[in-house]
Amino acid sequence: MSDAFRISLADLRRQEGSRLEFVRSIPAPDTFATALVRTIGDISVDGALQSVSEGVLVTGTVDYTTLAECARCLREVEEDLTSDVTELYFYPNRAKALQESGDEEAEEVALIEDDTIDIEPLLRDTIVGQMPFIPLCDENCPGLCAVCGGRLADLPDDHAHEEEFQEMTALDELRAKLAAEEQGS
Ligand SMILES: [Zn+2]
Ligand SMILES: [Zn+2]
Repeated sequence: MSDAFRISLADLRRQEGSRLEFVRSIPAPDTFATALVRTIGDISVDGALQSVSEGVLVTGTVDYTTLAECARCLREVEEDLTSDVTELYFYPNRAKALQESGDEEAEEVALIEDDTIDIEPLLRDTIVGQMPFIPLCDENCPGLCAVCGGRLADLPDDHAHEEEFQEMTALDELRAKLAAEEQGS
Protein backbone atom coordinates (compact mmCIF):
# COMPACT_ATOMS: atom_id res chain seq x y z
CA MET A 1 0.00 0.00 0.00
CA SER A 2 1.12 3.51 -0.71
CA ASP A 3 1.74 5.98 2.12
CA ALA A 4 0.22 8.74 -0.01
CA PHE A 5 -3.20 7.26 0.79
CA ARG A 6 -2.58 7.04 4.55
CA ILE A 7 -4.13 9.69 6.70
CA SER A 8 -2.98 10.27 10.23
CA LEU A 9 -5.59 10.59 12.96
CA ALA A 10 -3.08 12.11 15.40
CA ASP A 11 -4.75 15.53 15.25
CA LEU A 12 -8.32 14.23 15.49
CA ARG A 13 -9.79 14.26 18.97
CA ARG A 14 -11.52 11.03 20.00
CA GLN A 15 -14.49 12.87 21.45
CA GLU A 16 -17.59 12.01 19.41
CA GLY A 17 -18.41 14.70 16.88
CA SER A 18 -14.85 16.05 16.64
CA ARG A 19 -14.00 16.92 13.07
CA LEU A 20 -10.86 17.44 11.05
CA GLU A 21 -10.71 18.39 7.40
CA PHE A 22 -8.03 17.23 5.00
CA VAL A 23 -7.03 17.66 1.38
CA ARG A 24 -4.80 15.35 -0.63
CA SER A 25 -3.55 15.21 -4.17
CA ILE A 26 -2.20 11.79 -5.09
CA PRO A 27 -0.85 10.51 -8.42
CA ALA A 28 -3.28 7.88 -9.74
CA PRO A 29 -1.84 4.35 -9.32
CA ASP A 30 -2.01 1.80 -12.16
CA THR A 31 -4.50 -0.23 -10.14
CA PHE A 32 -7.19 2.42 -10.55
CA ALA A 33 -8.18 0.98 -13.92
CA THR A 34 -10.17 -1.60 -15.87
CA ALA A 35 -9.32 -3.19 -19.21
CA LEU A 36 -10.56 -0.15 -21.15
CA VAL A 37 -10.52 2.74 -18.70
CA ARG A 38 -7.73 4.11 -16.53
CA THR A 39 -7.28 7.01 -14.14
CA ILE A 40 -4.66 9.56 -15.19
CA GLY A 41 -3.00 12.51 -13.50
CA ASP A 42 -3.68 13.31 -9.87
CA ILE A 43 -6.59 12.26 -7.70
CA SER A 44 -7.70 15.16 -5.50
CA VAL A 45 -9.52 14.46 -2.28
CA ASP A 46 -11.31 17.09 -0.24
CA GLY A 47 -12.49 15.31 2.88
CA ALA A 48 -13.39 15.36 6.53
CA LEU A 49 -12.73 12.99 9.42
CA GLN A 50 -15.29 12.74 12.18
CA SER A 51 -15.00 10.82 15.44
CA VAL A 52 -17.97 8.54 16.08
CA SER A 53 -18.46 5.88 18.75
CA GLU A 54 -17.27 2.98 16.54
CA GLY A 55 -14.34 4.79 14.94
CA VAL A 56 -13.84 7.51 12.35
CA LEU A 57 -16.25 8.47 9.63
CA VAL A 58 -14.65 9.72 6.41
CA THR A 59 -16.66 11.80 3.99
CA GLY A 60 -15.49 13.78 1.02
CA THR A 61 -15.43 14.47 -2.68
CA VAL A 62 -12.88 13.10 -5.10
CA ASP A 63 -11.89 14.80 -8.36
CA TYR A 64 -10.09 12.74 -10.97
CA THR A 65 -9.60 12.25 -14.70
CA THR A 66 -10.21 9.06 -16.63
CA LEU A 67 -8.97 8.07 -20.05
CA ALA A 68 -11.16 5.53 -21.82
CA GLU A 69 -10.94 3.84 -25.18
CA CYS A 70 -14.23 3.79 -27.08
CA ALA A 71 -15.21 0.12 -27.45
CA ARG A 72 -16.56 0.77 -30.97
CA CYS A 73 -14.16 3.21 -32.64
CA LEU A 74 -11.12 3.02 -30.29
CA ARG A 75 -11.03 6.80 -29.95
CA GLU A 76 -9.56 7.95 -26.60
CA VAL A 77 -11.92 9.91 -24.41
CA GLU A 78 -10.73 11.97 -21.45
CA GLU A 79 -13.24 12.83 -18.76
CA ASP A 80 -13.04 14.92 -15.58
CA LEU A 81 -15.21 13.36 -12.88
CA THR A 82 -16.25 13.95 -9.29
CA SER A 83 -17.47 11.31 -6.85
CA ASP A 84 -18.64 11.45 -3.26
CA VAL A 85 -17.12 9.02 -0.77
CA THR A 86 -18.23 7.84 2.66
CA GLU A 87 -16.59 5.16 4.78
CA LEU A 88 -16.60 4.24 8.44
CA TYR A 89 -13.21 3.10 9.74
CA PHE A 90 -13.61 1.01 12.89
CA TYR A 91 -11.43 0.99 15.97
CA PRO A 92 -9.93 -2.53 15.94
CA ASN A 93 -11.53 -3.39 19.32
CA ARG A 94 -14.96 -2.28 18.03
CA ALA A 95 -14.60 -4.42 14.90
CA LYS A 96 -13.52 -7.34 17.09
CA ALA A 97 -16.54 -6.87 19.34
CA LEU A 98 -18.77 -6.88 16.26
CA GLN A 99 -17.18 -10.10 15.00
CA GLU A 100 -17.60 -11.73 18.37
CA SER A 101 -21.27 -10.74 18.38
CA GLY A 102 -21.62 -12.78 15.18
CA ASP A 103 -21.96 -9.90 12.74
CA GLU A 104 -20.59 -11.41 9.51
CA GLU A 105 -20.08 -8.04 7.88
CA ALA A 106 -17.57 -7.16 10.60
CA GLU A 107 -14.98 -9.23 8.70
CA GLU A 108 -15.08 -6.77 5.84
CA VAL A 109 -15.06 -3.42 7.61
CA ALA A 110 -12.28 -0.87 7.15
CA LEU A 111 -10.01 -0.58 10.15
CA ILE A 112 -8.00 2.11 11.85
CA GLU A 113 -4.40 0.89 11.97
CA ASP A 114 -1.64 2.51 14.03
CA ASP A 115 -3.75 5.67 14.41
CA THR A 116 -4.00 6.04 10.63
CA ILE A 117 -6.51 5.11 7.96
CA ASP A 118 -5.81 3.92 4.42
CA ILE A 119 -8.17 5.55 1.93
CA GLU A 120 -6.74 3.72 -1.10
CA PRO A 121 -9.35 0.88 -1.16
CA LEU A 122 -12.15 3.41 -0.65
CA LEU A 123 -10.98 5.61 -3.54
CA ARG A 124 -10.17 2.68 -5.81
CA ASP A 125 -13.56 1.01 -5.29
CA THR A 126 -15.35 4.32 -5.84
CA ILE A 127 -13.44 5.31 -8.98
CA VAL A 128 -13.24 1.87 -10.61
CA GLY A 129 -16.87 1.23 -9.60
CA GLN A 130 -18.14 4.05 -11.77
CA MET A 131 -16.12 3.05 -14.84
CA PRO A 132 -18.37 1.83 -17.66
CA PHE A 133 -18.07 -1.82 -18.75
CA ILE A 134 -18.30 -0.72 -22.37
CA PRO A 135 -16.94 2.82 -22.71
CA LEU A 136 -18.22 4.77 -25.70
CA CYS A 137 -17.11 8.15 -27.09
CA ASP A 138 -20.79 8.77 -27.77
CA GLU A 139 -23.75 6.49 -27.16
CA ASN A 140 -24.51 6.69 -30.90
CA CYS A 141 -20.92 6.02 -31.98
CA PRO A 142 -21.22 4.17 -35.32
CA GLY A 143 -17.86 2.42 -34.82
CA LEU A 144 -15.42 1.50 -37.55
CA CYS A 145 -15.97 0.64 -41.22
CA ALA A 146 -15.70 -3.16 -41.43
CA VAL A 147 -13.80 -2.88 -44.72
CA CYS A 148 -11.24 -0.09 -44.29
CA GLY A 149 -11.25 0.37 -40.50
CA GLY A 150 -11.98 4.11 -40.84
CA ARG A 151 -14.05 5.85 -38.18
CA LEU A 152 -17.56 6.02 -39.60
CA ALA A 153 -18.23 9.20 -37.61
CA ASP A 154 -15.40 10.93 -39.53
CA LEU A 155 -16.41 9.55 -42.94
CA PRO A 156 -19.13 10.88 -45.26
CA ASP A 157 -22.59 9.34 -44.85
CA ASP A 158 -22.36 7.63 -48.24
CA HIS A 159 -19.01 6.03 -47.40
CA ALA A 160 -18.87 2.69 -49.23
CA HIS A 161 -16.42 0.43 -51.03
CA GLU A 162 -17.22 -0.13 -54.72
CA GLU A 163 -14.58 -2.82 -55.25
CA GLU A 164 -15.85 -4.81 -52.34
CA PHE A 165 -19.35 -4.54 -53.75
CA GLN A 166 -18.18 -5.87 -57.12
CA GLU A 167 -16.37 -8.76 -55.51
CA MET A 168 -19.55 -9.68 -53.73
CA THR A 169 -21.38 -9.58 -57.03
CA ALA A 170 -18.78 -11.84 -58.64
CA LEU A 171 -19.11 -14.22 -55.70
CA ASP A 172 -22.88 -14.18 -56.03
CA GLU A 173 -22.55 -15.01 -59.75
CA LEU A 174 -20.28 -17.94 -58.92
CA ARG A 175 -22.75 -19.21 -56.33
CA ALA A 176 -25.60 -18.92 -58.84
CA LYS A 177 -23.54 -20.80 -61.42
CA LEU A 178 -22.68 -23.59 -58.97
CA ALA A 179 -26.32 -23.86 -57.88
CA ALA A 180 -27.39 -24.13 -61.53
CA GLU A 181 -24.81 -26.86 -62.17
CA GLU A 182 -25.96 -28.75 -59.11
CA GLN A 183 -29.54 -28.66 -60.30
CA GLY A 184 -28.46 -29.76 -63.80
CA SER A 185 -26.59 -32.85 -62.57
ZN1 LIG B 1 -16.52 5.81 -30.59
ZN1 LIG C 1 -14.51 1.98 -45.28
